[in-house]
Amino acid sequence: MEKILIVEDNKALSKLIAKKIAQNIDFEVDIAHTLKEAQNLVGSGNEYFISLLDLNLPDAPDGEVVDYILLKKIPSIILTANVDKKTRDTILKKDVIDYVYKGNMDDVNYIFQLIERLSKNRNYKVMIVDDSIVMRNEIKRLLKLQMYKVFSAAHGEEALVYIKDNPDIKLVLTDYNMPVIDGFELTKTLREEYSKMQMSIIGITANSDEMVSSKFLKIGANDFINKPFTKEELVCRVNNAIESLEYIETISDMANTDFLTGARNRRSFFRELNLYMEECKNSSEEFAIAMIDIDKFKNINDTYGHDVGDIAIKELVRLITESIKGSDEVARFGGEEFCVLLKNIDKSSAVEIFVRLRLKIAKNIITVNNHKINYTVSTGITFNCDEGIEEMLNQADMALYNAKNSGRNRVEITE
Ligand code: GH3
Ligand code: MG
Ligand code: MG
Repeated sequence: MEKILIVEDNKALSKLIAKKIAQNIDFEVDIAHTLKEAQNLVGSGNEYFISLLDLNLPDAPDGEVVDYILLKKIPSIILTANVDKKTRDTILKKDVIDYVYKGNMDDVNYIFQLIERLSKNRNYKVMIVDDSIVMRNEIKRLLKLQMYKVFSAAHGEEALVYIKDNPDIKLVLTDYNMPVIDGFELTKTLREEYSKMQMSIIGITANSDEMVSSKFLKIGANDFINKPFTKEELVCRVNNAIESLEYIETISDMANTDFLTGARNRRSFFRELNLYMEECKNSSEEFAIAMIDIDKFKNINDTYGHDVGDIAIKELVRLITESIKGSDEVARFGGEEFCVLLKNIDKSSAVEIFVRLRLKIAKNIITVNNHKINYTVSTGITFNCDEGIEEMLNQADMALYNAKNSGRNRVEITE
């Protein structure tokens, strides 16, 4: 587990923060009450994801601990008792992530959000596009402090090249005035490919030019920042933009997946299948679709209860997922009925996969509450059909119906 270092001479406070970290987030905590103790911990090879630093320690009354910890390349958040402008300016000049006012419990709670934010930020690629090398480097420094993976480009054209190679860049901060391709052109071009929900764009504009910020928004930027800006404003806007993308992703995952099993739901399966079949039209790629339904599932519910039935359904998805490729799709169509799409596969290989799956399921024993539960499935398969999705699913349903009527625990095909 990753570790956090707290350096704070107030024992009650350091203990409280450590306790709250243990309750709220997945990190281990080391506590030092003096600079000396901090040096011992760091010196004996401990590695820290982040440190929380008090500016006023018995053996380091003037923030010396910050310089020491930064020298050791440990990211730092400052705990301060002062919130005056002078202290704030001194703190923010150093390469620290943020400062927290320790006199206020709300602020102390903010630490956990911040740590979680930073921990997630490590997974995001962001890009700064600005022709001024000074501005570019300053923003890069600030975003690196927030633990983002940062790319930078001197103009729109260079940015487009980077983004082509890194289509998972989640946020682009772009200046307006740049040679070759300016901020507007860049935003417009990116929006042809990436929606506001896939990639966030923040325009950077000079205060004197009000028209620029509104134009940025009109052509598809999510937000804008006026120059000059404070470090805090930039960081808050960037983190907000990333958080919005995360919310959208969570909501869209919820809308596309079945809650019980995590498999796709019917609607999102149809969308995927539509896209895939469009692609296949122009190639000779073969594929297969199967409907799989648990045999006499009602008996499991009636005998062991609905909760156990749920476990049996989840187990089926596990076994199906294990048997197919990551690029294939599985969707829950009804209670204990699933639809599987195998991509780029010939008929006999597809049949073989479902026959093996049938056998694996028949042999599988689930142990719940000391009960040993076992069930079989019936499967109906169909192959590339020129008459559209509905007809294909009809065909697969017919095959499933035949499998049920011929005694269950069987695989049937229609062609
Ligand atoms: P067959 O072999 O013909 O498929 O018989 P069956 O009993 O499996 O089929 P039937 O369609 O008669 O019954 C399916 C049962 O699945 C009825 C329903 O109560 C149950 N069911 C539907 N959704 C869920 C669910 O989410 N959880 C549980 N535990 N049961 C469910
Ligand atoms: Mg059934
Ligand atoms: Mg059924």
